[in-house]
Amino acid sequence: MKGTIIRSTGSWYEIAGDDSKIYKGRLRGKFKIKDLRVTNPIAVGDRVEYEHENTNEDTVSIHEIIQRKNYIIRQSVHKSAHGHLIASNIDQSMLVVTLAMPRTSAGFIDRFLVSGETFRIPAVIVFNKTDLYDEEGLAYLKEFSSIYSSLGYHCINTSVVTGEGMKEVRDVLKGKTTLISGHSGVGKSSIVNLLIPGLNLATTEISDFANKGVHTTTFSERFTVEENTYLIDTPGIKELGIFEIGNDELSHYFPEMRAMLNECKFNNCRHVNEPKCAVLAKVESGEIAASRYDSYMSMLLGTDNRK
Ligand code: GDP
Ligand code: ZN
Repeated sequence: MKGTIIRSTGSWYEIAGDDSKIYKGRLRGKFKIKDLRVTNPIAVGDRVEYEHENTNEDTVSIHEIIQRKNYIIRQSVHKSAHGHLIASNIDQSMLVVTLAMPRTSAGFIDRFLVSGETFRIPAVIVFNKTDLYDEEGLAYLKEFSSIYSSLGYHCINTSVVTGEGMKEVRDVLKGKTTLISGHSGVGKSSIVNLLIPGLNLATTEISDFANKGVHTTTFSERFTVEENTYLIDTPGIKELGIFEIGNDELSHYFPEMRAMLNECKFNNCRHVNEPKCAVLAKVESGEIAASRYDSYMSMLLGTDNRK
């Protein structure tokens, strides 16, 4: 029998069976960890094969992972060579950001997008809390988000308070499995609660009251928005994590640089101070946003430090 992992607590997994029932599964017997070097063998989103255990109808043993379409892996906290699987079989990621309360930095957004590019997972950027912006703020938002929409990232302005953009969010999620990410406080839980009435994810204010009946996520979990439409929430994981991007490769993950890499004089150009660098020329002319180039430079230096 086949199903999809919808929750992982470490030793137990919750499985949505293709028969529409929910099972509790664990790894048993023949199960082998494939050659991926990870601390956790199975992630939310994994498609698995399982068998019923004799004792209990609802308890199953997982014996195989069906080949993943993709996966997101993060470097293990202890900086070992092992990674931590965050989620599998993702169609897209949705990064929720705010330019007010708390402000998400361009650097953070760009790092997120670069990791999405390395995993080849398209990103949607949701600019939440538009009800808090004044006229000037809205003008800035328009300008800032146009940097990203011109690069091909789908950008949506939303407000949980006024409901702005929520239909567009629903439309972009439809029929897909989407990983939702973003700093704490930007409104992820509020958005999920609007999309899935009755779910009652704890949001920042009410969690203080130890409210009964409020759902607090501590493990990665997949929520059903509607048929074939899922959100994967990975609490505590703001970034997708980036590792093993070489310095000469980094610009391949910036779409505006990738488009013109053959135009630099040197084919190993790092776009720092090389002569006849096409990237630097476009930064100078404003065709490449200064904030994007700043992010590129700080990531380049960061990569330098790690290697
Ligand atoms: P999370 O940590 O990303 O899950 O953020 P929460 O959903 O817990 O929201 C953090 C705080 O921001 C809460 O006080 C929410 O009520 C508030 N909030 C969320 N979305 C909006 C919004 O669109 N506008 C305003 N004004 N507040 C919001
Ligand atoms: Zn160059």
